[in-house]
Amino acid sequence: MSDLRDLYQQVILDHYRKPRNQQALIDANRSAEGHNPLCGDRVRVALKVAGDTIEDVAFEGSGCAISTASASLMTEAVKGKTVDQAEALFRSFRAVVTGDDGALVADDLGKLEVLAGVRDYPVRIKCATLAWHTLESALAGEAGSEPVSTE
Ligand code: ZN
Repeated sequence: MSDLRDLYQQVILDHYRKPRNQQALIDANRSAEGHNPLCGDRVRVALKVAGDTIEDVAFEGSGCAISTASASLMTEAVKGKTVDQAEALFRSFRAVVTGDDGALVADDLGKLEVLAGVRDYPVRIKCATLAWHTLESALAGEAGSEPVSTE
């Protein structure tokens, strides 16, 4: 198990040091901001949604390693997915990081599994889910929606 934990740690550090899709999205049509006051993480998620499909996604902001890596992994996971698929991924991801396996709806989380370890650190769960809550706000709202903070 410790080998697996090291691997997970490496993936998280890689996404923290070289975040994917951390940029402004010029032709975005949905966006939202999220803030995790417990840790100071801030993230802005911008989406280009066409029909039911998330054609492009990017994030900006700054935060701890977990929040940045999670935002990076989130963008990779949802790009090209339908809105329904992205929401199913979010529900499963939240189930994995909170340890609520009964709520799992997708079998294969792929790389998102690397963040499963945060379930042992309750303070970090909000760091890991911030980008996802912000994604959900962006999907629910129109362009330029009000800033939100996670629960
Ligand atoms: Zn954090």
